[in-house]
Amino acid sequence: MLFYPHLANSLHSVVKWKKNINYKYMVEEKFVRPSWDEYFMKIREAVSLRATCGRGRAGCVITKDNHILSTGYVGAPSGLPDCDEAGHLITKSTVENDDSGEFHDHCVRTLHAEQNAIAYGARKGVSLEGASIYISMEPCPVCARLIIAAGIKRVVCEKKYPTAGYSREMLDKAGIDFTVLTDRVQEYEKE
Ligand SMILES: [Zn+2]
Ligand SMILES: [Zn+2]
Repeated sequence: MLFYPHLANSLHSVVKWKKNINYKYMVEEKFVRPSWDEYFMKIREAVSLRATCGRGRAGCVITKDNHILSTGYVGAPSGLPDCDEAGHLITKSTVENDDSGEFHDHCVRTLHAEQNAIAYGARKGVSLEGASIYISMEPCPVCARLIIAAGIKRVVCEKKYPTAGYSREMLDKAGIDFTVLTDRVQEYEKE
């Protein structure tokens, strides 16, 4: 039998090449695109890096038809000093619609991410009617009311918030589609 080493070698490389191809296309390069919810949540994460209150650096993205209408993060209204430069401005308050009467520290120097994003829409004349809002955690009652008043129709939260029961109740009554993407619970802010 004739033996052609160069042929054997190239046959060997063809087998190797085929293996590589399979590996490349079936394992390594199988690319899964993020869902729209994952996509906007990733953007929300980036937005939150600009937040200026260390008690909760949250961010928010408002979208419609899979395009961004507005973004916002925890921070003082523009032109006013923020917590990172002036320190927190703490008041004591009870949790809304909670019978325990317990007082909690609350920083009032900043607006919440949702409030800043909704206000930016107002400033630029962008209607948020029928929009979706992507937020770090279940909203506080003030933000929940603003979301309803702005005509936003879908709320997507990354995490749960321990005292968000009343907000959920209001959003539910207003017929707003409400989703929390993970089972993680946002810790109480430092008190
Ligand atoms: Zn603060
Ligand atoms: Zn809020």
